[in-house]
Amino acid sequence: MMTAMKQSAVVLCYHDVVNQVSTASGMQSPGSLLYKMRRSDFAAHLDAIGRAGLTPTLPNTNGQLTSENSLVLTFDDGGISAISEIAPLLESRGWRGAFFITTDWIGMPGFLHAADIAALADRGHLIGSHSRSHPQISRLSSAQMREEWQESIRILSEIVGSRVVTASVPGGFYSQQVARAASDAGCRLLFNSEPVVQLEEQNGCLVAGRFRVVANTTTKTIVGLAQRRRAPQLRQQLSWEAKKAAKRFGGALWFRLRNRLRPN
Ligand SMILES: [Zn+2]
Repeated sequence: MMTAMKQSAVVLCYHDVVNQVSTASGMQSPGSLLYKMRRSDFAAHLDAIGRAGLTPTLPNTNGQLTSENSLVLTFDDGGISAISEIAPLLESRGWRGAFFITTDWIGMPGFLHAADIAALADRGHLIGSHSRSHPQISRLSSAQMREEWQESIRILSEIVGSRVVTASVPGGFYSQQVARAASDAGCRLLFNSEPVVQLEEQNGCLVAGRFRVVANTTTKTIVGLAQRRRAPQLRQQLSWEAKKAAKRFGGALWFRLRNRLRPN
């Protein structure tokens, strides 16, 4: 097995893909609209990745990234568009995605049902945890963090019929304690929202950063990120540091800023 020191991956973090922006999939708060991408724009991203000669891959069933330079497409929250839009667009190119599910939302309006999640897994997509209740998880006690990961991993493992070993941190509320709790709950590969390509190890759990994709992210940015160009990485790093600073001042300001900052 490759050591974490040497391993790197470009991981893109998508949310929902919708036919029209008003179409209901996933979260419905005003801030979440930023993360709902039009179907045609998402298809253009995939076409651009293909034209650049890149092929998205997935971690194996042990949560290991088998290529040293992986490109991984991830989708957070478990909105219904995972199965109605995203999976078909990926599969038509022979590709698969990683879907991270908030288990309290399974079966709610706009979200995947258990049968959809099982079907995605059967079709070769990766199913991971996005916590049980989508809390600001880094602000919880260690026991609460562990419960969030344990319970969601238990439910998802039951649905897909095999042990779930990957997770993504809701809202980017990451800390080392969050990783430790995930590791304790059996997570082997945890995705956060730090815009970096280098993987690091935390208590037996590999931690991978991700680059956020929003509704107006251009194909040029996607290809630049996938090709590990420095400029688009730097733009995301600056924007992410600003967001983290805003988060420290609490919710209202964070939402105002989140709606204003639109990194490409
Ligand atoms: Zn989320």
